[in-house]
Amino acid sequence: MHWADVTAEELLKKGKDHTIATGITPSGHIHVGNMREILTGDLIHRALKEKGGHSTLIYLGDTFDPLRKVYPFLGPSYERYVGMPLSEIPCPCGGHESYAIHFLEPFLKSLEKLGVEQKTLLTHELYKNGEYAEGAKRVLENKEKIREILERVSKRSLPKNWFPYTPKCGECGKFGAEVTGYDYPFVHYTCECTHKGKADIRKDDGKLPWRVDWPTRWWFLGVTCEPFGKDHGAAGGSYDTGTEIVEKIFNRSPPYPVMYEWIQLKGKGAMSSSTGVVVTGVEMLNITPPEVLRFLIAKQNPFRHIDFDPGLGILNLVDEYDRYERIYYGVESAPDTGDMKRAYELSVPQGESAIPEEMALQVPYRHIVTLVQLTEDMEELKARIMRTEGIETLGREAEERLRKRVECARYWVDSFAPEGVKFSLQMEMPSFIPSPGEREFLGRLTKVLSTIPWEAEEVHKGIHDTSGALGTKKSFTLLYRIFLGKNRGPRLGFFLSSLGREFVLKRLKEGMEV
Ligand SMILES: [Zn+2]
Repeated sequence: MHWADVTAEELLKKGKDHTIATGITPSGHIHVGNMREILTGDLIHRALKEKGGHSTLIYLGDTFDPLRKVYPFLGPSYERYVGMPLSEIPCPCGGHESYAIHFLEPFLKSLEKLGVEQKTLLTHELYKNGEYAEGAKRVLENKEKIREILERVSKRSLPKNWFPYTPKCGECGKFGAEVTGYDYPFVHYTCECTHKGKADIRKDDGKLPWRVDWPTRWWFLGVTCEPFGKDHGAAGGSYDTGTEIVEKIFNRSPPYPVMYEWIQLKGKGAMSSSTGVVVTGVEMLNITPPEVLRFLIAKQNPFRHIDFDPGLGILNLVDEYDRYERIYYGVESAPDTGDMKRAYELSVPQGESAIPEEMALQVPYRHIVTLVQLTEDMEELKARIMRTEGIETLGREAEERLRKRVECARYWVDSFAPEGVKFSLQMEMPSFIPSPGEREFLGRLTKVLSTIPWEAEEVHKGIHDTSGALGTKKSFTLLYRIFLGKNRGPRLGFFLSSLGREFVLKRLKEGMEV
């Protein structure tokens, strides 16, 4: 059974109503690694609903967290905001209401494209609207019990002046003032900036520290399932301490945990917003269609890490998606297809019901990558595909898919493609002098290519069968040189067939005549 179904069935054993929480601190660009969390939640959410459960998927932006440092992508002017909540720091571009929203908004837009139905909650609003009021009160009433839990479970001793509430200074706007006393609803403090004040715990005058905040929100939001990164799931980590806090202080069970592994960027290690090892979620949607990004997460169990290669790996990923699609439609077979078919279903952004009865025409992504380098014009590109596929017309589904893939392929070629993949068709014959053997081969090939059906496979076979004494490798290199002016290039059969017979024969003739 697919992992999302396994989790959904575990959850349904406990009850029908579920709230799945996911989220992030929007302190920088939101990378594709973070996509794993929300998409993991979304797949479980979808499986739950299909099995008759009621489910809400929450995306919680930790907008009330402080800016921890001046990240490399920020200017030195941000020094003065370190320690202030992200929701109260100016936006880097000036176009958003805050620093937090600047990074969150494009990510939320990507979620729409991915078909993720989520309810966004922002912690600065939850504090401001008093959603934390009752929880914070209970936390402060149970301060010593919580200290005992944190120290015992995490095996770390807390400083003497530890306090489970961090006031925000009313003067300098930063978190971290020293707490000097508490009488409900006020926490009294003295800030480094010398300001003495009081924070009302029913408002956004301060916040709970992470290890206490997490179980408190489980309680007031009624969270029953939460995917989280393995850092939170370590022994004695924040899931363990949160579990005991939610049970003992709030009399409630912890959410069903779904721990997920990191996405590693090929050759660069785990992605992280603070180290700058990043492919953003938005960028990822520029280079792959949404169903393929969903597929990256759906095909792999959350506890297995994913190697992500935005270079050539993208081509393999899209090919793999297409293969799962063929298996789904029974066009290709594989030994154990149940989970593969399910992974395909869960990858379609609009859901299972949107899957057409017949499989749309698949144009290999590599071919699209070739075509976008040959023409800027969509109509011409379509004509070339119909020519190479030997078809009269593209269906509506196929055309829509093609349009999206063409956009992605163009972006990929411009920004991520390795140099070896890039080429440009030489409109004039590149200067070079063929050897007698090469000349002979071009002559033989001209005859063959004049008569065969003009399709990729046939063209490939024609070249292969004609190479003779020159050998396949050398004959391929020769053709790349006379069409591209370099020794390597895209798959030749497809490439030449997409150029059209007339153009190819003319160039071969020019090759013989130099
Ligand atoms: Zn201050």
